Amino acid sequence: MADSFDVIVVGAGPGGSTAACYLSRAGKKVLLLEKAKFPRDKTCGDALSGKSMHVVRELGLVKEIEKLPHAKTTGVTFSSPSGACVSVPFAKTDESREGGQGYCMRRIYTDKMFFEAAKKEKNVKIMEEFIVGEVIFKEGKAVGVKGMDLNDGRKEKEFYAKAVVGADGVNSTVARSVLGERAALDEKHSCDAVRGYYKGIKGLGGDIEIHFFESCLPGYFWIFPLESGYANVGLGLVSYDLKKKMKTERKNLVTMLHDAIENEPLIKERFADAKLEGKITGWRLPFGSYRRQLSGEGWALVGDAASLVDPFSGEGVGNATIAGKIAAKIISGAIDAGDISASRLGEYDKEIWAELGPELQTSYRMQQVGRVKFVLNRFVEKAQKNEEFRSLLAASLANEDAKKNFANPLFYLKVLLF
Ligand SMILES: Cc1cc2nc3c(=O)[nH]c(=O)nc-3n(C[C@H](O)[C@H](O)[C@H](O)COP(=O)(O)OP(=O)(O)OC[C@H]3O[C@@H](n4cnc5c(N)ncnc54)[C@H](O)[C@@H]3O)c2cc1C
Repeated sequence: MADSFDVIVVGAGPGGSTAACYLSRAGKKVLLLEKAKFPRDKTCGDALSGKSMHVVRELGLVKEIEKLPHAKTTGVTFSSPSGACVSVPFAKTDESREGGQGYCMRRIYTDKMFFEAAKKEKNVKIMEEFIVGEVIFKEGKAVGVKGMDLNDGRKEKEFYAKAVVGADGVNSTVARSVLGERAALDEKHSCDAVRGYYKGIKGLGGDIEIHFFESCLPGYFWIFPLESGYANVGLGLVSYDLKKKMKTERKNLVTMLHDAIENEPLIKERFADAKLEGKITGWRLPFGSYRRQLSGEGWALVGDAASLVDPFSGEGVGNATIAGKIAAKIISGAIDAGDISASRLGEYDKEIWAELGPELQTSYRMQQVGRVKFVLNRFVEKAQKNEEFRSLLAASLANEDAKKNFANPLFYLKVLLF
């Protein structure tokens, strides 16, 4: 099947399916290979950020979300280690959260929605239950992939294309093939997190809740509302911190989650009648505070395979879909120009870091500052009392310019002193 496709996309999560949609709309023939069969689950907090919604809107999928089980969200509640709470509403002017509303939707639905969108594209051929094992190189250039077809007696098959996109998640086979040891995760720039689905938590409102409980520091505990009184409840810590905590406190993420639910004064009553549905599951998040090489001779990486998760919020779906969109544009242009070299595809790295780099840097700083209990207490207490500061937090959830304040050390000094 030499060169029968323009692009092979490995992995049909939000990043891969989005890339496939935009490539198809640019007239490129795509082979989308996915090891699972949809609907498949993905451990996640299930919150769709403003950035995710930008792509959802552009692909015309808002009406699909409206048909699927979801919760509409109206803001974020933060609590500090001292137990202070503040609710920060989404800005009404945020175009990606129309009318100041966001969404939380289980990934089993969200990912199927992105996958179905790719499936409907006329230039996309999909193979589910196909496990890519390695990238095929010719004279140093990625020209295809080799893998196992679970639908055809586990037969080994090869496919060829002008370019290969790795959208195969945090343990990306494509990233390992193209980057070798450089694909290893840095434990200070990745996070481990668990989540469970609970029903019957008292006092669920329209806010997603982020709690900086002392027992969970330097990580945070979340409650994100879902459909019909369900909520996604989870906890995440930077992998390096978790390792240390596991050694010194002999706790893992699951025991920490249960401890918080049973003992944290702010929530224990709210969970008194709550029931866990299914199992608590965990997964790793690769942060964009560590800059991975994103493209090379005939290849590009998107989403978790490209290590693009926000190091403060843990959001990765938005950056995966934005990366899918940008990768599709650069690769299409490169194919049209007949130049799929590393230097041409390097435009993708440049555009990603220009688009996402500043925000990722700010979020990394916020993550570092958020490790200090005193600062967290001061921020939440100040937001409780000061309307102007609350508005600034709301604006930071909506736009990058307002968020830039958090990159400025003087800003922290001002908050702490006044
Ligand atoms: C606990 C937790 C909470 C989170 N909360 C949020 C949140 O609330 N909001 C948010 O935006 N993000 C959140 N994230 C991050 C988010 O889940 C990821 O950033 C996002 O899934 C990345 O999308 P992706 O398409 O790059 O990868 P994935 O969603 O991981 O998709 C990769 C796909 O590739 C397939 N694949 C893998 N290997 C192969 C192979 N060899 N061959 C073929 N196919 C393969 C997989 O089956 C999968 O379908 C959270 C993550 C965790 C772990």
